[in-house]
Amino acid sequence: MLQLANIKKSFNEKKVIKGIDLSVRKGEVVVIVGPSGSGKSTLLRMMNALEYPTEGDIRLEGESILYKDINGKHTSRNDKELSKFRAEIGMVFQGFHLFAHKTVLENIIEGPIYVRKIKKEQAIQEAEYLLKKVGLSDKRDQYPHSLSGGQQQRIAIARALAMKPKMLLFDEPTSALDPELVGEVLIVMKELALEGMTMAVVTHEMGFAREVGDRVIFIDQGVIVQDAPPEKFFHTTNGNERIRKFLSTLS
Ligand code: ATP
Ligand code: MG
Repeated sequence: MLQLANIKKSFNEKKVIKGIDLSVRKGEVVVIVGPSGSGKSTLLRMMNALEYPTEGDIRLEGESILYKDINGKHTSRNDKELSKFRAEIGMVFQGFHLFAHKTVLENIIEGPIYVRKIKKEQAIQEAEYLLKKVGLSDKRDQYPHSLSGGQQQRIAIARALAMKPKMLLFDEPTSALDPELVGEVLIVMKELALEGMTMAVVTHEMGFAREVGDRVIFIDQGVIVQDAPPEKFFHTTNGNERIRKFLSTLS
């Protein structure tokens, strides 16, 4: 589905990603963990072309999403291809990023109407189905500020799904939530995983990683330190000192 090949990324002179190879297969759930500042968000943002790598290539279903301009700098191929690509890979952020001045329904139908170019009636029908799926049909005509954080995040997930993405990226989707609201968002994510959605998830929720993840990837200082199925990753005899230290800071 998505391949990152020898990806490097610097901001100014600072090397943030130092050579990462990562393939995500169709239907796979890859959980990405690591200390603050290790490059998790940068990596995820490159998967969605919100950032471009300094070196390396990113391929979606075998096709590179990058090209080099005359200065040898990576950029998107062009705006049209970029918006097509962004529609194919949805992203859910820590801070929800809903449009505050639009209702829940308007938030969800905006992308399908303007990017997928479907008719408003069809977009509404699809949005109503998605609202049901995330358990928020009754919030259809409310504004985001009247919803809890957990509800807003479930709307953000419905909005991402409305684009019919091939893959979803989650960057700490539950980190901004009160603890009692985390579960309702994780349940929606787990259901998506069970339905076969391809997902890359940055999270500190190790229960989710263990239960839902097909692979857990530990990143530290811009490199992949471990890439293993959860049963191996969380095995008590896991010999990696950095991972053990990191995991002990979480609980
Ligand atoms: P956290 O767990 O705190 O979210 P992270 O693993 O997501 O951390 P990143 O946000 O990817 O880490 O940041 C990795 C490094 O890159 C940090 O040192 C950060 O300061 C730097 N960085 C990220 N984005 C930029 C930017 N746009 N300009 C300059 N430096 C940046
Ligand atoms: Mg981050």
